[in-house]
Amino acid sequence: MKKQSVKVRRERLAKGRCPTHGLPMPQINVWYQLESGRQYTIVGCPRQDCRIRAKAYSVNGPWALLRVNEQPEGVERIDLETT
Ligand SMILES: [Zn+2]
Repeated sequence: MKKQSVKVRRERLAKGRCPTHGLPMPQINVWYQLESGRQYTIVGCPRQDCRIRAKAYSVNGPWALLRVNEQPEGVERIDLETT
């Protein structure tokens, strides 16, 4: 397997894809709302052996990687947005 550059990984994440596997990351959690009013949900790599998770600030991004032990903060919104 070719060594992956930081640039490639950043580009994948910028498209909502797993930086390691390049797979689109589906939503795996509810939406959260921060005090600022900003909303995000959690997406994750569909591979069973991959623990990469990211915050998605809308269905079209931007995405930010979630650290391994980082818990989502903010208020859970049960009324899921439909796309
Ligand atoms: Zn992955």
